[in-house]
Amino acid sequence: MITRAKNFILKIKEKLIGHFNDLKAKLKIQQEEPEFGDDIDSFEEEADETTEYSNRLGIQQTLKEEMGEVEHALNKIDEGKFGICEKCGKEIEPELLEIDPESRFCKACKKNQNKKK
Ligand SMILES: [Zn+2]
Repeated sequence: MITRAKNFILKIKEKLIGHFNDLKAKLKIQQEEPEFGDDIDSFEEEADETTEYSNRLGIQQTLKEEMGEVEHALNKIDEGKFGICEKCGKEIEPELLEIDPESRFCKACKKNQNKKK
């Protein structure tokens, strides 16, 4: 990162670490033993709780993936590659980084990616 101010990176880093801790706390809540109540007396309720459990696993998966993205961005900061688009190698717009610090791509590449989906 040659052209970008150090303060900007520091601010982003702080944001990312905050976000990471936030996700970690959320994950911890999700990983706590699901409370299977004492009142499992109908199949219907049991099925509901199984659904809830698999929802939880889904949320955990999403949180872990998000944590991975944040870690990836933090690694890029340490390597001095932060703010560089992983697709075209250009600088990612600062305003995009403000909103989405863990973004790997610049606006144009992001747009192209969304089109494919
Ligand atoms: Zn790009």
